[in-house]
Amino acid sequence: MQLDRIEHIGIAVKSLEEAIPFYENVLGLTCYRVEEVEDQMVKTAFFKVGETKIELLESTSDDGPIAKHIEKRGEGIHHLAFHVQGINKSLAEAEEKGVRLIDKQSRKGAEGLDIGFLHPKSTQGVLMEFCEDNQNQ
Ligand code: ZN
Repeated sequence: MQLDRIEHIGIAVKSLEEAIPFYENVLGLTCYRVEEVEDQMVKTAFFKVGETKIELLESTSDDGPIAKHIEKRGEGIHHLAFHVQGINKSLAEAEEKGVRLIDKQSRKGAEGLDIGFLHPKSTQGVLMEFCEDNQNQ
């Protein structure tokens, strides 16, 4: 597989409204997009730092994965996303190499990216996401 770059870092927050001012007023970044991803029960806010994005994640439901993450571990880094060439091929290759997958096939995530998650039990505790921008193909 071929990873190009760290596409984004996902950070679980209790409230976008409370978190966004830190990124804007202290770090001097600009929130360029807020988007709800219904099937993941999250509202996301995006910032760019060079080629890498920061994705803040607020749960829209008490049962959502982000709500559960915050309940167990508090706010903080939630996942690391790599941009890959050929997402489904890359997921299949990881599985062939014994990695447990959360998504065997890519699905649509925020910003129209195709995304798929590897299970943190197979990745030393880091929830990893592969993503690929196929919108212009
Ligand atoms: Zn992500």
